[in-house]
Amino acid sequence: MTVKIKKQTPENSLIHVVEKMSDVDLSRCYQCQKCTSGCPVAKLTQSPPSEIVRRLQLGAGDELLGSDIIWMCLSCETCYERCPMEINIASVMDALRSLALEKGVSKTKGNIPLFNRIFLRMVRSFGRSYDLPLIAAYKLGTLNIMLDTDKFPTMLRKGKMALLPPSGADKPVVKRIFGRRQPNKGTGK
Ligand code: SF4
Ligand code: SF4
Repeated sequence: MTVKIKKQTPENSLIHVVEKMSDVDLSRCYQCQKCTSGCPVAKLTQSPPSEIVRRLQLGAGDELLGSDIIWMCLSCETCYERCPMEINIASVMDALRSLALEKGVSKTKGNIPLFNRIFLRMVRSFGRSYDLPLIAAYKLGTLNIMLDTDKFPTMLRKGKMALLPPSGADKPVVKRIFGRRQPNKGTGK
């Protein structure tokens, strides 16, 4: 006899909302933890990526939106690369970040939403990140003007930071992407 197990999650449950926003089916996760073993920030967080997925599967609510990994995730997609079920956890983190901001339960580490906003503004304007004004705007925004300024000459000398704006970006494509973006997607806006 074949027994069919149906997924039963209320429409407004956190997992349902997250799955819809990220276009990911979290029921496919079988907790192999490959994502966590490759995640560069897993050891620094209270809840590594596989645990976030498990808690969602078990019916976690908005308390999950206070998890520190939401703001520590680097969107590097190592988890996605390693996942045998092709679960895009980076996209799940995007959705969680967005919901955390929307619901006002954002617990950020440092000034990450501010950084995200400035970064996206640079990409929107120049088609790519332009580090010099990005750092200047971030420092102004955080009122931490002198932090790490001693590293600046070395970075310039080693070519780690350009004085001129980036070139070669396909600005029309970038403009189209920004035109299509959903507001409040992990950007702090
Ligand atoms: S790697 Fe994929 S299947 Fe394994 S625990 Fe992580 S999300 Fe789940
Ligand atoms: S995308 Fe985020 S959760 Fe996934 S491996 Fe990178 S830092 Fe970890």
